[in-house]
Amino acid sequence: MDFLRPASWEEALAAKAEHPTAVPIAGGTDIMVEINFDHRRPQYLLDLNRIGLLSEWHVGEETVQLGASVPYARIMENLRTELPGLALASHTVASPQIRNRGGVGGNLGTASPAGDAHPALLAAGCQVEAESVRGSRLIPIDDFYTGVKRNALEPDELIKSIHFKKADGPQQYSKVGTRNAMVIAVCAFGIALHPETRTVRTGIGSAAPTPIRAKAAEDFLNAALEEGGFWDNGKIITPSIAKQFAELVSGAANPIDDVRGTASYRRHAVGIMARRTLGWTWESYRGNGRSTEGVA
Ligand SMILES: Cc1cc2nc3c(=O)[nH]c(=O)nc-3n(C[C@H](O)[C@H](O)[C@H](O)COP(=O)(O)OP(=O)(O)OC[C@H]3O[C@@H](n4cnc5c(N)ncnc54)[C@H](O)[C@@H]3O)c2cc1C
Repeated sequence: MDFLRPASWEEALAAKAEHPTAVPIAGGTDIMVEINFDHRRPQYLLDLNRIGLLSEWHVGEETVQLGASVPYARIMENLRTELPGLALASHTVASPQIRNRGGVGGNLGTASPAGDAHPALLAAGCQVEAESVRGSRLIPIDDFYTGVKRNALEPDELIKSIHFKKADGPQQYSKVGTRNAMVIAVCAFGIALHPETRTVRTGIGSAAPTPIRAKAAEDFLNAALEEGGFWDNGKIITPSIAKQFAELVSGAANPIDDVRGTASYRRHAVGIMARRTLGWTWESYRGNGRSTEGVA
């Protein structure tokens, strides 16, 4: 196995163009497990650890650009306000050691349906910046996951960064696991309120072949919130709206039975998480200076 160690982003892109089968290694917390268990024996490993820009983030007026290799620990420490859903999801990843090494670029590279970043990324509605020697492109997160552990990257592309709009409303993340740490999700759910566009976005993890949004549930909730004037009057969301939202989220899931849980449990659990996280985010939205009159 050849170990390629580019010293710059340009060198990394050139190496990937020359060796499209080269496997990038960032934190190594996914790829080294595969190599150690002999599940994979790439001819070339492309080490990205000398490329400083991948570990940087930039907070602009309205946007955040997150380098692909920024570890979860840095996201939790530094981007809690701008990317609250992703910061909460980062908290649930593995252990402090893994959170110090692993990052969102690696989660996207692996594209496991159980990756914890994905529901938060889908709910936030970000774009993945992929680059090759041919140029750069922004892939909407909705188009990124193409199959089980497959993504939209071309063989010569690397993930440079992830582009977000700063959160303009509350976001939440919830995960079911067999214990509180060092656990791959049985299933997970992310939600983001976007008051500026008066929309709600969702993300479901570990309950379908790829991370997915619950689009019918979003459409239903967006219409119900608009119709009831909820964004303006800040009323409590009625139990019937919350229940229907949860049922539609459950219906969007397409899980399998496996060692971590049954399909029916997962379908049930994502509904429960959807109802709870909707309640938490909406309470937070109402508490931010909106009218709290009129309990429906
Ligand atoms: C003990 C343990 C517990 C874990 N628990 C969790 C958990 O709770 N939740 C969770 O989501 N994950 C968990 N993981 C998996 C892993 O930590 C995450 O998926 C992490 O985000 C991977 O990031 P990394 O930088 O280490 O990726 P790496 O292992 O370096 O790479 C992962 C994949 O992404 C590709 N890649 C990396 N960077 C780029 C790039 N810039 N461009 C293109 N491709 C790239 C690699 O080629 C590889 O295919 C766990 C892993 C271990 C070992």
